[in-house]
Amino acid sequence: MAQVQRMSRLMVKTLRDDPADAETLSHKLLVRAGYVRRNAAGIWSWLPLGKKVLENVARVVREEMDAIGAQEVLLPALLPKEPYEATGRWDEYGAELFRLQDRKGADYLLGPTHEEIFTQLVKDQCTSYKDLPVILYQIQTKYRDEARPRSGILRGREFQMKDSYSFDTTDEGLAESYRLHREAYVRIFERLGLRHKIVSAVSGAMGGSASEEFLAPAAAGEDTFVYCPSCDYAANTEAVTFAGGEPADGSAHGPVEELDTPDTPTIETLAEHLGVPASATLKNLLVKVDGEIVAVGVPGDREVDLGKLEDHLAPAVVEMVTADDFTGRPDLVRGYVGPQGLDKVRYLADPRVAPGTAWVTGANKPDTHARNVVVGRDFEVDRYLDVVVVEDGDPCPQCGAGLRLDRAIEIGHIFQLGRKYTDAFQLDVLGQNGKPVRVTMGSYGVGVSRAVAALAEQTADDKGLCWPREIAPADVHVVAAGKALQTELALEVSEKLGEAGLRVLVDDRAGVSPGVKFTDAELLGVPQILVAGRRSGEGVVELKDRRTGEREELTVEEALARLT
Ligand code: ATP
Ligand code: MG
Ligand code: MG
Ligand code: MG
Repeated sequence: MAQVQRMSRLMVKTLRDDPADAETLSHKLLVRAGYVRRNAAGIWSWLPLGKKVLENVARVVREEMDAIGAQEVLLPALLPKEPYEATGRWDEYGAELFRLQDRKGADYLLGPTHEEIFTQLVKDQCTSYKDLPVILYQIQTKYRDEARPRSGILRGREFQMKDSYSFDTTDEGLAESYRLHREAYVRIFERLGLRHKIVSAVSGAMGGSASEEFLAPAAAGEDTFVYCPSCDYAANTEAVTFAGGEPADGSAHGPVEELDTPDTPTIETLAEHLGVPASATLKNLLVKVDGEIVAVGVPGDREVDLGKLEDHLAPAVVEMVTADDFTGRPDLVRGYVGPQGLDKVRYLADPRVAPGTAWVTGANKPDTHARNVVVGRDFEVDRYLDVVVVEDGDPCPQCGAGLRLDRAIEIGHIFQLGRKYTDAFQLDVLGQNGKPVRVTMGSYGVGVSRAVAALAEQTADDKGLCWPREIAPADVHVVAAGKALQTELALEVSEKLGEAGLRVLVDDRAGVSPGVKFTDAELLGVPQILVAGRRSGEGVVELKDRRTGEREELTVEEALARLT
């Protein structure tokens, strides 16, 4: 079936100038090329060409997920509160969660990620070890009320994600599901043409242990990572790679300020200490429970959780600050990890670097931090992790070569969650020996819409977008550069290319100069540009490679042979 799209009938309005609010290359170009339009901060419409690219990314993701035996489903985005209360995330997720009420006043949320709902689904559907392992996925709209929804499609408040969830009866099974995902992700990003690094990551708000991120190096990226040009070492600077031992100068136990906290704080004394009303919603206070540190938010809804929390309050309550205190100060951050793992305490600022400031840790959520933490009281530092390489050229912990720092976009993330969610929902299946087995779980995400922008970031040049063929909105962009004769030839060639199975975009617009058409073709970024111009009368066209700019005059037959 011929797939020929005429520009004369396509809704695409290109812009010569960058939108005033755009900072990143992908934001500028996707708007200028008429792929997307902004409706509100972090909320975007996909126009015809953009939708094609988005669908192409989704198709690649779908094919590779299907190839590892994952089954596609579609769960709702509008979700009831209760399952998220069961895991504590209704509160823990904080301000990023879109919460709303129905006409009866019942609470709902717009799903930011779906661990709870998938766990419930599997509890409903799977009863025996014979039903597992299972991998389920969806490609769906996600909602997160991002604090800084700039960067266009890269950080939306509504965006497309492929999220998948694996359910296994054994730890080995989980490791295998994780491996399958890791390999599928490598294939996905290779097919998309996205250069990427796999780095170990903190598990953030998800909880759980093993976790890796797929980072696409790009100037617009909001993540900083370090990599070694000589070996395979790479790490997110927020995460860690073990450097071993304590810092030579013993600074991990440097001077810290003791807080005058009550011995057994109640919610009231705690609130007073923090200088907030007792009804306030506080997040990510670091609290010690039975000698073990847990990061706990104090929810505003006192009836539900405060009582529970109160039982657990110990003296080690600390003050909370936000990530903004750190913006632009990567030098403040050095990594340490306590025995309880990275999901609980992410990092400490080094008091040597910030004299006079109290120690700061990350909490169990991205972008939140706790201040006035007392090492030894609040947790033990059992390893010193030199995670943030402040300078290019610091020695690689693996091979000693000079490390490099770079910016990157997080395009995928894989987690071995373990039993955090299955415990919350008591998801057991009947084991081989007739006894119930607690299921273990993984969760895995690809930013489908973000991948479009990340690809734009990595591939665009000063003329515009420049898509790899598999993702491009068309295989070939035919330009009628002239009058009736050229348009006739352009349409004729387009028809033939379409019949040969190619996706063709043909610029048959009347009254638009060849110069404008050429500029638009380069801006739109289809990989091959075929021009019916000057020598159309002789049946000669020009084929131009969008990326290299190389051009060649060919007969129509030669051009067809070349392209099909
Ligand atoms: P980030 O660190 O950029 O905020 P995240 O770690 O919060 O991302 P995950 O919870 O790991 O995101 O979600 C899985 C994937 O979804 C991410 O790897 C990313 O590709 C994508 N994603 C997350 N947030 C957004 C967003 N606001 N807009 C577009 N894509 C997003
Ligand atoms: Mg996030
Ligand atoms: Mg992240
Ligand atoms: Mg992530």
